[in-house]
Amino acid sequence: MRKYLLAFIIILLSITIVGCNEGGNIENNPIDGNTDFKIYTTFYPMYFIADEIAKEKASIVQLIPSGVEPHDWEPTLKTMAELKSSDIFIYNGAGMEKWVDKITKSLQESNVEIVEASLGIDLIKGNSNHDDDYDPHTWVSPVNLMAQAKNVFDALIEVDGENSEYYEANYKSLINRLEKLHKDISDASKDFRIKIIVTSHEAFGYFAKEYGITQIPIRGISPEQEPSPAKLAEIVKLCRENDIKYVFVEKFVNPKFSNVIAGEIDGDVLTLNAAHGLSEKEILQGQDYTTLMYDNLRNLEKALK
Ligand SMILES: [Zn+2]
Repeated sequence: MRKYLLAFIIILLSITIVGCNEGGNIENNPIDGNTDFKIYTTFYPMYFIADEIAKEKASIVQLIPSGVEPHDWEPTLKTMAELKSSDIFIYNGAGMEKWVDKITKSLQESNVEIVEASLGIDLIKGNSNHDDDYDPHTWVSPVNLMAQAKNVFDALIEVDGENSEYYEANYKSLINRLEKLHKDISDASKDFRIKIIVTSHEAFGYFAKEYGITQIPIRGISPEQEPSPAKLAEIVKLCRENDIKYVFVEKFVNPKFSNVIAGEIDGDVLTLNAAHGLSEKEILQGQDYTTLMYDNLRNLEKALK
């Protein structure tokens, strides 16, 4: 029996390893289009806005695989070299992709149009100890994502003016969808009895601010930052005082602390997706940023009403 169990574990491990290799290989990242006009984006929300606006007029690459936690990701030398062949490079900024500073100069020398999509957004400070650390999760608020889409749209018409009408039509339809999403969340949040969300990492600051909610994150801006026992006890106390019965978890963040808190308050966990990534399977199923946000809204309604 033990022999079979060991064999089973080895099979499981090898599946995981194959999975990782596939995820880490640039050739397997979402690539859309087959034209010479190349747009490189860093992680999913940047890919989403570029793809919605440029559609088949560009080949769009998402550098950071969706199954990979994007905060600590760094490009290989090969990827850095490949980036120089792009026409437009889109990153979120606000401290999300700290490695970009290292390559800006060489991209500029290669005439790559660089778009920091979060430029112009009022950044909020994170809860971490560093004074200069801003919360990079701008895209989690649909209102911010609209501003980020505008920056991407502006770059597209500047670099490829010939197709400006095409881009404008796509941009407008994206904004309409995001406006509707924003209105639906705004309307629903007026009925929230509880105005606090306990999240697995500090990713919902902009979202919470937009809809009048307070975020209590278990982990820091980067999911690597773990809470102290004192902090966990403090969160449990706060949940009890505010009649909170649900603790939110994210797909790529270890739920162990969320589970501990949910157990202590005799409550449960629910998913709240910060849209850092979307698997290829989810994309094939027709999921995108807006469907993730509607899933979030359903869970917020369950937890907060
Ligand atoms: Zn994050």
